[in-house]
Amino acid sequence: MDDRLREQLAAWLEFYRDLGIEDFYRREPGSRPETRNSKLETGQDLQPRAAAATSPAAPEPRVLSPESRAVNLSPPPLSLSLFEAPPPPRREPETLEQVRRDLGDCRRCRLAGGRKTIVFGQGNPHAELVFVGEGPGADEDEQGLPFVGRAGQLLNRMIQFVGMKREEVYICNIVKCRPPGNRTPEKDEVDACSPFLFRQIEAIRPRLVCCLGAPAMKTLLGIKEGITRVRGQFFAYGSTKAFVAYHPAYILRNPREEKILREDFETIREFLKSAG
Ligand code: SF4
Repeated sequence: MDDRLREQLAAWLEFYRDLGIEDFYRREPGSRPETRNSKLETGQDLQPRAAAATSPAAPEPRVLSPESRAVNLSPPPLSLSLFEAPPPPRREPETLEQVRRDLGDCRRCRLAGGRKTIVFGQGNPHAELVFVGEGPGADEDEQGLPFVGRAGQLLNRMIQFVGMKREEVYICNIVKCRPPGNRTPEKDEVDACSPFLFRQIEAIRPRLVCCLGAPAMKTLLGIKEGITRVRGQFFAYGSTKAFVAYHPAYILRNPREEKILREDFETIREFLKSAG
């Protein structure tokens, strides 16, 4: 048996094992299929496995042969030469509401101590474009909304530049509580909070995730290079794409760089247009 067939066979066996079926046998070509009815017709014992397992009269090891007592539950159309790994079970995607409920009145890291509100995120739950910043500032903490201060106003202008409205996109941060003095979130804080960010993105399933600033880039893409070398570029992010741009707060401190931010948002606009 070649390796590929062996792997596919193993996948099938695992699939059935997950369903609680553990006994298998190979039917000889041309032999009569053994079904539950055929057992009944011939009067053979069809003792259920659970009962057999608890019965003191059934200590014999299982014999995996055509004469086995196992009921044949193999799917009819399956042929050894056409083995396909079973499709993974379908899992309903989580909703943003479920993620928010799970976050609750979070105290998973020390940032809980200094916050007024949890700034979960805002916008279209089915957005094509998601922006990820660093963490809430004073205005955001006050209002419970992301990017509402001066940096938020610049982001709003950039969103309009892309040809969209703020309510059409989704905006959130790596950490949901304001770091004291607007400092960069520390590693353990990011580790505690970022799983909720990943789940938010998974729930939204956007076409593009735009990392605003180096902390978002590092958290989402694991890139350790300086943002100046990486900004303006696309990266694979799961089944979607990510893009790196400067944080609007950085542009406010370095207004000469606004031209670069515009260029990057022009790239986003072209991407969204070409993606249909
Ligand atoms: S920053 Fe995130 S993990 Fe930390 S307390 Fe706030 S919501 Fe919880």
